[in-house]
Amino acid sequence: MREYKNKEARILDRIICNGCGKVIAVKRGMPMEGVFSVRQVWEYMSGKDGEIDRFDLCEECYDKMTEQFRIPLTRTEQAEYL
Ligand SMILES: [Zn+2]
Repeated sequence: MREYKNKEARILDRIICNGCGKVIAVKRGMPMEGVFSVRQVWEYMSGKDGEIDRFDLCEECYDKMTEQFRIPLTRTEQAEYL
């Protein structure tokens, strides 16, 4: 969940993990730790046509979620950090 200092200017204030409620600090618009941010637009063929789901997870909640996968996720190294 994203909280904004100024809703019109969309200045990000902090992120709250939807999984555990942990507050993730934001400085100059950048989260100070790893965050998994989702914005899922459900389309026609889904049962949620036209709905948009948003949530944020801290790295720990992300790990808990992905550890439940029957088939492990694919993780590779990024070639170059920008
Ligand atoms: Zn969490």
